[in-house]
Amino acid sequence: MPDKANSYLDVHPEQDEVTGTCFSCILTPPDSFIKPVKFLLDCGLYQETMYAERNKDFSFEPNEYEFVLVTHGHIDHIGRLPLLYQKGFRGKVYCTRLTAEVIAIALKNTLKIFENELKLYKIPPLYTQEDVDMVLENIVTFKVNKLFYVHKYIAVSFIANAHIFGATSVFLKITYPRQESMTYLFTGDYAKQNRLFEVPDVPKFVTENHLTIFQEATYGSTHLEDIEKVFVDNLKEAIAKNKTIVIPLFAFGRFQEVMYLITQLLQEKVIPRSYRISLDGKLAKEYVELFRKYRSCLKKEVQSIFSTKFRWVDDPDDRELIISDYKKRIILASGGMGSFGPIVEYERRLLDKPDVLFHYMGYTAVDSLGTKILNAKNLEAVCIRGNTIYKQADVKISRESSSHAKVEELIEYLYSIKKLDCITLYHGQKEIVQQYQQTLKNLKISKDVLISNSNVTHRYGPYGYIKSIYHTTTPV
Ligand SMILES: [Zn+2]
Ligand SMILES: [Zn+2]
Repeated sequence: MPDKANSYLDVHPEQDEVTGTCFSCILTPPDSFIKPVKFLLDCGLYQETMYAERNKDFSFEPNEYEFVLVTHGHIDHIGRLPLLYQKGFRGKVYCTRLTAEVIAIALKNTLKIFENELKLYKIPPLYTQEDVDMVLENIVTFKVNKLFYVHKYIAVSFIANAHIFGATSVFLKITYPRQESMTYLFTGDYAKQNRLFEVPDVPKFVTENHLTIFQEATYGSTHLEDIEKVFVDNLKEAIAKNKTIVIPLFAFGRFQEVMYLITQLLQEKVIPRSYRISLDGKLAKEYVELFRKYRSCLKKEVQSIFSTKFRWVDDPDDRELIISDYKKRIILASGGMGSFGPIVEYERRLLDKPDVLFHYMGYTAVDSLGTKILNAKNLEAVCIRGNTIYKQADVKISRESSSHAKVEELIEYLYSIKKLDCITLYHGQKEIVQQYQQTLKNLKISKDVLISNSNVTHRYGPYGYIKSIYHTTTPV
């Protein structure tokens, strides 16, 4: 027979919108003589300028926490792990092997950004090489879709999903003696499918549960039919006019996906042989190596592209050569939002050329250079690294390569679960999350549909939501 008193889990997010994902979880046991367990789910960096101040500290005491569960290697989910150690955390970081590799590459690159680009803006580094080393020394990896104990009472499973290479949702099963188990699922950033690799179905030991689910809602107001597939047509149109095409890309995932697409278009002769392909980005190249190393995890038709000989730009001199001889090229450059990385030099030098098309491939933040360039009218001035450039190039954007599920896919995920005790939404702009919450309420898919918010701790028990605890102090 279960005891009268139940255990419960308090979950408090550090973040409010898309970036900086970090949930503080405090598990209170049914008996007062058992110690509560504190752990984190992700520990990301804020990338929206309005939240930059929040990067400096946590709203909790890191040394009281026992471990971190990491869903995937994007910087907005792992970027503050080194700061966590700097502030006294001494526990382990649990994730998949692929994510561990991504973390090592991504944190090394973040250090480089601190040392180079942020120095230009006099922004002090958040952490050092030693802090990064602490993270890397404390990572423990697990296989996907298996259940492991990370604590006497807590079993965890990393469930593969198609958001990026190595991405997972995290399933938690908490069982105290003589108590009902509590079962939770954090979707992490989630996509159902990916051009480069496939993921197995969510295992039954997850879907056949009753669950309290934390679901990402980045595209909670976007339907599948809203996504226009325009990239190839835009490319064809530009090629017909002999234009040079510059494609700003996130170094990890999107870059390799577009490499694959370009390879296909070359094979199909949509891109003529007279066009030269140049790839620019040391980080993107490192990730290509990672894909090559784990090529057996890729779709069969994709595996061969990582042996295709494209020309990589290796240093600024090389970039200069490409820019001065820019005609009839397709240039893939890392820096997806246009603000950082090799792309900035192409924007600075080629935005005033009428025979160039800049084609952005995904989300560009409101205050990013990409958004400024997209919004500028023809011949309007854009300030790039202190230079005034008068836009004459064509500028387009397509969101068809997004790595987040759309409304129908998010709902399909929910319907695949046997019983939903509660849904808590996170990772989305406020209005979008609210819109998605209303959609779910109308569907009556679960008794409770909450929105996570840094002013509130939500308490959950074996059957979902119990109550909200409001905080009097508001983070920056
Ligand atoms: Zn992500
Ligand atoms: Zn994210």
